[in-house]
Amino acid sequence: MSDSDVWFVNRQVGPQYSMLDKLEILWKKMGLNKIIKKNKRVFIKTHFGAYGNLMYMRPALLRKVVDLVKAQKGYPILVESAGLGYGAGLYGGRTTAAEYFRMAAANGYTIGTMGAPIVLLDGYWGTDTFSVPISGNHVKNVEVGMALRDADVIIVFTHFKGHGGTGMGGTLKNLGIGCVGKYSKAMMHGPQNPIVNAEECRGPECRKCIDVCPTRCITVDPKIEINFDRCVHCIHCVSVCRSEAQSKAITAEWGTDPIKSTETMIENALGVIDGIGRDRFYYFNVALDISETCDCAPFGPMALTPDLGIFASRDPVAIDTASIDLLNDAQPVTISACGDIQPGEDKLAIATPWPDPHTGKKTPTQCHLRQLDYAEELGIGTKKYKLRKADKRKPTIL
Ligand code: SF4
Ligand code: SF4
Repeated sequence: MSDSDVWFVNRQVGPQYSMLDKLEILWKKMGLNKIIKKNKRVFIKTHFGAYGNLMYMRPALLRKVVDLVKAQKGYPILVESAGLGYGAGLYGGRTTAAEYFRMAAANGYTIGTMGAPIVLLDGYWGTDTFSVPISGNHVKNVEVGMALRDADVIIVFTHFKGHGGTGMGGTLKNLGIGCVGKYSKAMMHGPQNPIVNAEECRGPECRKCIDVCPTRCITVDPKIEINFDRCVHCIHCVSVCRSEAQSKAITAEWGTDPIKSTETMIENALGVIDGIGRDRFYYFNVALDISETCDCAPFGPMALTPDLGIFASRDPVAIDTASIDLLNDAQPVTISACGDIQPGEDKLAIATPWPDPHTGKKTPTQCHLRQLDYAEELGIGTKKYKLRKADKRKPTIL
């Protein structure tokens, strides 16, 4: 496989030369100004952050993408997918469309601010998916968000940062977690069947778990029973039993080794691009506000390094590889999670360490590197890339 092109604009700016102007330069380098035609449906897959996290993707960048699509008379639609669980309180939840849109509005993402519809690609409950068979080591089918089938072009517009479970939150994660429904999200989190303690159940007058079960596989007659053949491990029932019924009638024990979790996510990514068609995907990594946690954390630690810039590519492996390399080259912020390490060292390994489930002792993670290696093994893309600097113009010094 030959080297993949990764286009890059750095963070240096000046008058008439903002990051939004630079994003437009990347847009043209990717050929999107020619590919998007009148009335083509352009899905823009991003993450609206969690309430309390101030390091998420800035809405103005998404608005710029929307405006670029409209300038070509395309039809832009912002898409995201539901998180696991149910009912995390005011602005806290991202687990149904209603919860997520309320939280997204608090973070600045509405149809009004974006100038485009916002849709959950896996439906109200996160279970509107279609099954893509794959021959993975960990999963044999991937539940891909049904709405994606309607897209002519998919722009995977990712905030590049760390991630507690898989080391790196980049393009591959935006595909492998962000574009799948709850079942496939659960698969990479190492699910077990919910544990039923029927004697704790409050009985039919409660029924809260029944109301939130998207597959209708719960009966309470007179105590809870679950038909596990239809369970998608969404843990809605676990959440409401604990928080609303204040019972321990349903509990869950999750956990897997981080490498298995990471590989499952990559297998999900394979199902997404092959289920939809690789030719429809275009990738951007926004490497601004790069902290060690995912945007889904309801806080946002300080940046690990100064802002890098924005990357764009047709290759999801190459773009994440280039993003890691430039992050490692950068000077660390001295009081950040990787402040003690030198430029050139592996920042995400230090900043997103593995906690040993038994001892709690943390060791440097390898998951971000495993994402790249395994994605290359599965033929998703290549780690070999050519970095092409798209902004030749020097910034104005004020
Ligand atoms: S929510 Fe809990 S207590 Fe209520 S019916 Fe379901 S299992 Fe029983
Ligand atoms: S029984 Fe399964 S599908 Fe139903 S709410 Fe619980 S975890 Fe979800």
